[in-house]
Amino acid sequence: MSQLFGSIEGGGTKFVCCVASGPDDIREELRYPTTNPDETIGKAIDFFEAQQSKHGKLAALGLGSFGPIDLEPGSPTYGHVTSTPKPGWKNADFLGRVRARFDIPMGWDTDVNAAALGENVWGAAKGLDTFIYLTVGTGVGGGGMIRGQLMHGLVHPEMGHITLPHDHKADPYKGRCPFHGDCLEGMAAGPAIEERWGVPGKELAPDHDAWKLEAEYMALALRTFVCTLSPQRIILGGGVMKSPGVIPRIRERLLELLAGYVQHPAITEDIDSYVVPPGLGDQAGMLGGIALAQQALESA
Ligand code: ZN
Repeated sequence: MSQLFGSIEGGGTKFVCCVASGPDDIREELRYPTTNPDETIGKAIDFFEAQQSKHGKLAALGLGSFGPIDLEPGSPTYGHVTSTPKPGWKNADFLGRVRARFDIPMGWDTDVNAAALGENVWGAAKGLDTFIYLTVGTGVGGGGMIRGQLMHGLVHPEMGHITLPHDHKADPYKGRCPFHGDCLEGMAAGPAIEERWGVPGKELAPDHDAWKLEAEYMALALRTFVCTLSPQRIILGGGVMKSPGVIPRIRERLLELLAGYVQHPAITEDIDSYVVPPGLGDQAGMLGGIALAQQALESA
Protein backbone atom coordinates (compact mmCIF):
# COMPACT_ATOMS: atom_id res chain seq x y z
CA MET A 1 0.00 0.00 0.00
CA SER A 2 1.30 3.45 -0.89
CA GLN A 3 2.12 5.93 1.83
CA LEU A 4 -0.35 8.67 2.61
CA PHE A 5 0.66 12.29 2.84
CA GLY A 6 -1.13 15.43 3.99
CA SER A 7 -1.16 18.77 2.21
CA ILE A 8 -2.17 22.30 3.10
CA GLU A 9 -2.56 24.81 0.32
CA GLY A 10 -2.73 27.95 2.41
CA GLY A 11 -4.06 30.74 0.25
CA GLY A 12 -4.93 34.26 1.27
CA THR A 13 -8.59 33.64 0.37
CA LYS A 14 -9.06 29.93 0.98
CA PHE A 15 -7.34 26.94 2.49
CA VAL A 16 -7.39 23.52 0.86
CA CYS A 17 -6.30 20.50 2.87
CA CYS A 18 -6.06 16.99 1.53
CA VAL A 19 -4.77 13.52 2.23
CA ALA A 20 -3.43 11.60 -0.76
CA SER A 21 -0.66 9.38 -2.06
CA GLY A 22 -0.75 11.14 -5.44
CA PRO A 23 -3.12 12.61 -8.06
CA ASP A 24 -4.89 9.29 -8.63
CA ASP A 25 -5.41 8.60 -4.98
CA ILE A 26 -6.89 11.62 -3.20
CA ARG A 27 -8.63 10.25 -0.11
CA GLU A 28 -10.15 13.35 1.42
CA GLU A 29 -10.28 17.03 0.70
CA LEU A 30 -11.41 20.03 2.74
CA ARG A 31 -11.80 23.64 1.58
CA TYR A 32 -12.69 26.64 3.68
CA PRO A 33 -12.21 30.40 3.68
CA THR A 34 -9.08 31.89 5.25
CA THR A 35 -10.01 33.76 8.41
CA ASN A 36 -7.69 34.41 11.38
CA PRO A 37 -4.63 32.15 11.90
CA ASP A 38 -6.02 30.38 15.02
CA GLU A 39 -9.22 29.32 13.37
CA THR A 40 -7.74 28.68 9.91
CA ILE A 41 -4.72 26.63 11.00
CA GLY A 42 -6.80 25.00 13.75
CA LYS A 43 -9.23 23.62 11.17
CA ALA A 44 -6.35 22.10 9.22
CA ILE A 45 -4.97 20.45 12.36
CA ASP A 46 -8.41 19.03 13.26
CA PHE A 47 -8.76 17.71 9.72
CA PHE A 48 -5.42 15.84 9.78
CA GLU A 49 -6.06 14.48 13.26
CA ALA A 50 -9.39 13.08 12.06
CA GLN A 51 -7.68 11.68 8.96
CA GLN A 52 -5.01 9.97 11.03
CA SER A 53 -7.60 8.26 13.18
CA LYS A 54 -9.21 6.99 9.99
CA HIS A 55 -6.19 6.10 7.81
CA GLY A 56 -3.35 5.79 10.33
CA LYS A 57 -0.31 7.97 10.73
CA LEU A 58 0.53 10.17 7.74
CA ALA A 59 4.05 9.79 6.35
CA ALA A 60 4.67 13.54 6.08
CA LEU A 61 2.91 16.86 5.64
CA GLY A 62 3.52 19.56 3.02
CA LEU A 63 2.55 23.18 3.60
CA GLY A 64 2.38 25.69 0.78
CA SER A 65 1.58 29.13 2.12
CA PHE A 66 0.68 32.53 0.78
CA GLY A 67 3.47 34.94 1.53
CA PRO A 68 5.76 36.49 2.13
CA ILE A 69 7.07 33.70 4.35
CA ASP A 70 10.35 32.84 6.07
CA LEU A 71 12.00 29.83 4.37
CA GLU A 72 15.41 30.03 5.96
CA PRO A 73 16.09 27.10 8.28
CA GLY A 74 17.69 28.36 11.48
CA SER A 75 16.00 31.75 11.30
CA PRO A 76 14.03 32.57 14.48
CA THR A 77 10.97 33.22 12.32
CA TYR A 78 11.39 30.16 10.06
CA GLY A 79 7.91 28.93 9.16
CA HIS A 80 6.24 32.29 9.78
CA VAL A 81 4.17 34.37 7.43
CA THR A 82 6.03 37.71 7.52
CA SER A 83 5.03 41.10 6.08
CA THR A 84 1.55 40.34 4.75
CA PRO A 85 -1.09 43.07 4.90
CA LYS A 86 -3.63 40.32 5.59
CA PRO A 87 -5.24 41.08 8.99
CA GLY A 88 -3.96 38.86 11.81
CA TRP A 89 -1.38 37.02 9.71
CA LYS A 90 1.59 39.32 10.02
CA ASN A 91 4.29 37.26 11.84
CA ALA A 92 1.94 34.28 12.28
CA ASP A 93 3.83 31.05 13.02
CA PHE A 94 2.09 28.82 10.50
CA LEU A 95 4.54 25.92 10.41
CA GLY A 96 5.19 26.00 14.16
CA ARG A 97 1.51 25.56 15.01
CA VAL A 98 1.25 22.51 12.78
CA ARG A 99 4.58 21.09 13.94
CA ALA A 100 3.48 21.32 17.55
CA ARG A 101 0.77 18.76 16.79
CA PHE A 102 2.38 16.33 14.34
CA ASP A 103 5.75 14.69 14.82
CA ILE A 104 6.37 13.80 11.17
CA PRO A 105 8.55 15.30 8.41
CA MET A 106 7.18 18.57 7.16
CA GLY A 107 7.75 20.40 3.90
CA TRP A 108 7.33 24.16 3.94
CA ASP A 109 7.37 26.52 0.97
CA THR A 110 5.40 29.20 -0.81
CA ASP A 111 2.06 28.18 -2.31
CA VAL A 112 3.48 28.85 -5.77
CA ASN A 113 6.67 26.86 -5.23
CA ALA A 114 4.51 24.00 -3.95
CA ALA A 115 2.35 24.20 -7.08
CA ALA A 116 5.49 24.35 -9.21
CA LEU A 117 6.80 21.18 -7.56
CA GLY A 118 3.45 19.45 -8.11
CA GLU A 119 3.60 20.42 -11.78
CA ASN A 120 7.16 19.11 -11.98
CA VAL A 121 6.24 15.74 -10.49
CA TRP A 122 2.87 15.18 -12.20
CA GLY A 123 1.90 18.08 -14.42
CA ALA A 124 3.00 20.48 -17.15
CA ALA A 125 6.64 20.72 -16.00
CA LYS A 126 7.39 16.99 -16.03
CA GLY A 127 10.90 16.41 -17.31
CA LEU A 128 11.89 20.08 -17.06
CA ASP A 129 14.38 21.48 -14.57
CA THR A 130 14.04 25.24 -15.10
CA PHE A 131 10.55 26.71 -15.34
CA ILE A 132 8.22 29.14 -13.63
CA TYR A 133 4.71 28.87 -12.25
CA LEU A 134 2.65 32.03 -11.89
CA THR A 135 -0.73 32.30 -10.29
CA VAL A 136 -3.02 35.20 -11.01
CA GLY A 137 -5.95 35.37 -8.62
CA THR A 138 -6.44 37.46 -5.49
CA GLY A 139 -2.78 38.35 -5.93
CA VAL A 140 -0.02 37.45 -8.35
CA GLY A 141 2.60 34.99 -7.15
CA GLY A 142 5.48 33.33 -8.90
CA GLY A 143 7.69 30.36 -8.11
CA GLY A 144 9.45 27.63 -9.97
CA MET A 145 12.64 25.69 -10.31
CA ILE A 146 16.13 26.42 -11.49
CA ARG A 147 18.18 23.35 -12.39
CA GLY A 148 15.83 21.14 -10.43
CA GLN A 149 15.79 23.20 -7.23
CA LEU A 150 12.79 25.20 -6.06
CA MET A 151 13.59 28.90 -6.23
CA HIS A 152 14.84 30.11 -2.87
CA GLY A 153 17.31 32.90 -2.37
CA LEU A 154 17.59 35.64 0.15
CA VAL A 155 13.90 34.94 0.75
CA HIS A 156 11.84 33.74 -2.21
CA PRO A 157 10.93 35.30 -5.54
CA GLU A 158 8.23 37.97 -5.56
CA MET A 159 7.47 37.95 -9.25
CA GLY A 160 4.07 39.55 -8.71
CA HIS A 161 5.71 42.75 -7.51
CA ILE A 162 7.84 43.68 -10.51
CA THR A 163 7.38 47.10 -12.07
CA LEU A 164 5.77 47.28 -15.49
CA PRO A 165 5.60 50.12 -17.98
CA HIS A 166 2.36 51.95 -17.17
CA ASP A 167 0.74 54.04 -19.88
CA HIS A 168 -1.43 56.29 -17.72
CA LYS A 169 -3.35 57.54 -20.75
CA ALA A 170 -4.34 54.09 -21.92
CA ASP A 171 -4.94 52.89 -18.36
CA PRO A 172 -5.45 55.65 -15.77
CA TYR A 173 -6.05 53.05 -13.03
CA LYS A 174 -3.61 53.65 -10.19
CA GLY A 175 -3.14 50.06 -9.08
CA ARG A 176 -3.94 48.51 -5.73
CA CYS A 177 -0.83 46.95 -4.29
CA PRO A 178 -0.61 48.34 -0.75
CA PHE A 179 3.19 48.44 -1.09
CA HIS A 180 3.82 49.53 -4.69
CA GLY A 181 0.57 50.70 -6.27
CA ASP A 182 0.96 49.77 -9.91
CA CYS A 183 3.24 46.71 -9.76
CA LEU A 184 2.14 43.58 -11.69
CA GLU A 185 -0.11 42.41 -8.84
CA GLY A 186 -1.47 45.92 -8.35
CA MET A 187 -2.50 46.05 -12.02
CA ALA A 188 -3.33 42.49 -13.06
CA ALA A 189 -4.69 40.53 -10.07
CA GLY A 190 -8.41 39.82 -9.78
CA PRO A 191 -9.18 42.66 -7.33
CA ALA A 192 -7.47 45.18 -9.68
CA ILE A 193 -9.61 44.00 -12.60
CA GLU A 194 -12.74 44.33 -10.49
CA GLU A 195 -11.84 47.78 -9.18
CA ARG A 196 -10.83 49.08 -12.62
CA TRP A 197 -13.92 47.88 -14.48
CA GLY A 198 -16.47 47.92 -11.67
CA VAL A 199 -17.39 44.23 -11.97
CA PRO A 200 -15.54 41.00 -11.20
CA GLY A 201 -13.46 39.60 -14.08
CA LYS A 202 -15.72 36.58 -14.47
CA GLU A 203 -18.58 38.89 -15.42
CA LEU A 204 -16.57 40.52 -18.21
CA ALA A 205 -17.10 39.05 -21.70
CA PRO A 206 -14.05 37.38 -23.28
CA ASP A 207 -13.86 40.16 -25.90
CA HIS A 208 -13.97 42.96 -23.29
CA ASP A 209 -11.04 45.42 -23.37
CA ALA A 210 -10.18 44.24 -19.86
CA TRP A 211 -8.66 41.07 -21.27
CA LYS A 212 -6.58 42.88 -23.85
CA LEU A 213 -5.11 44.97 -21.06
CA GLU A 214 -4.66 41.92 -18.85
CA ALA A 215 -2.79 40.13 -21.64
CA GLU A 216 -0.64 43.21 -22.17
CA TYR A 217 0.48 43.34 -18.53
CA MET A 218 1.02 39.61 -18.32
CA ALA A 219 2.99 39.53 -21.57
CA LEU A 220 5.18 42.42 -20.37
CA ALA A 221 5.85 40.49 -17.17
CA LEU A 222 6.56 37.26 -19.04
CA ARG A 223 9.01 39.02 -21.34
CA THR A 224 10.92 40.08 -18.22
CA PHE A 225 10.88 36.56 -16.81
CA VAL A 226 11.94 35.01 -20.14
CA CYS A 227 14.85 37.43 -20.30
CA THR A 228 15.92 37.13 -16.67
CA LEU A 229 15.28 33.47 -15.80
CA SER A 230 15.25 31.73 -19.19
CA PRO A 231 12.52 29.27 -18.19
CA GLN A 232 11.95 26.20 -20.35
CA ARG A 233 8.21 26.68 -19.85
CA ILE A 234 5.83 29.13 -18.17
CA ILE A 235 2.77 27.78 -16.38
CA LEU A 236 -0.10 30.21 -15.74
CA GLY A 237 -2.52 29.22 -12.98
CA GLY A 238 -5.10 31.02 -10.86
CA GLY A 239 -8.70 32.05 -11.49
CA VAL A 240 -7.94 35.06 -13.69
CA MET A 241 -5.97 32.94 -16.18
CA LYS A 242 -9.06 30.76 -16.68
CA SER A 243 -10.86 33.49 -18.56
CA PRO A 244 -11.46 32.09 -22.06
CA GLY A 245 -8.93 33.37 -24.54
CA VAL A 246 -6.63 35.17 -22.14
CA ILE A 247 -3.71 32.72 -22.37
CA PRO A 248 -3.76 32.71 -26.21
CA ARG A 249 -3.69 36.55 -26.14
CA ILE A 250 -0.75 36.48 -23.75
CA ARG A 251 1.16 34.08 -26.03
CA GLU A 252 0.54 36.26 -29.05
CA ARG A 253 1.55 39.46 -27.30
CA LEU A 254 4.61 37.84 -25.69
CA LEU A 255 5.90 36.86 -29.14
CA GLU A 256 5.42 40.44 -30.34
CA LEU A 257 7.15 41.90 -27.29
CA LEU A 258 10.11 39.52 -27.54
CA ALA A 259 10.42 40.71 -31.13
CA GLY A 260 12.40 37.71 -32.27
CA TYR A 261 15.23 38.40 -29.86
CA VAL A 262 15.18 35.22 -27.75
CA GLN A 263 15.80 32.57 -30.38
CA HIS A 264 14.72 29.11 -29.38
CA PRO A 265 12.25 26.87 -31.21
CA ALA A 266 10.37 26.33 -27.91
CA ILE A 267 9.34 29.98 -28.20
CA THR A 268 9.48 30.83 -31.88
CA GLU A 269 7.87 27.63 -33.16
CA ASP A 270 5.83 26.26 -30.27
CA ILE A 271 4.55 29.10 -28.10
CA ASP A 272 1.36 27.09 -27.39
CA SER A 273 3.48 24.55 -25.48
CA TYR A 274 5.64 27.26 -23.92
CA VAL A 275 2.97 29.28 -22.10
CA VAL A 276 0.48 26.79 -20.69
CA PRO A 277 -2.19 26.31 -18.02
CA PRO A 278 -1.31 23.94 -15.14
CA GLY A 279 -1.37 20.26 -16.06
CA LEU A 280 -2.97 19.58 -12.68
CA GLY A 281 -5.58 22.30 -13.16
CA ASP A 282 -7.08 23.57 -9.92
CA GLN A 283 -5.33 20.80 -8.01
CA ALA A 284 -1.81 22.11 -8.68
CA GLY A 285 -1.48 23.78 -5.28
CA MET A 286 -3.10 21.01 -3.29
CA LEU A 287 -1.09 18.25 -4.98
CA GLY A 288 1.96 20.47 -4.75
CA GLY A 289 1.65 20.15 -0.99
CA ILE A 290 1.65 16.36 -1.38
CA ALA A 291 4.82 16.63 -3.49
CA LEU A 292 6.39 18.85 -0.80
CA ALA A 293 5.50 16.25 1.81
CA GLN A 294 7.11 13.49 -0.27
CA GLN A 295 10.22 15.61 -0.69
CA ALA A 296 10.32 16.25 3.07
CA LEU A 297 10.12 12.51 3.75
CA GLU A 298 12.91 11.76 1.29
CA SER A 299 15.21 14.32 2.84
CA ALA A 300 14.27 13.47 6.46
ZN1 ZN B 1 3.45 45.22 -5.22
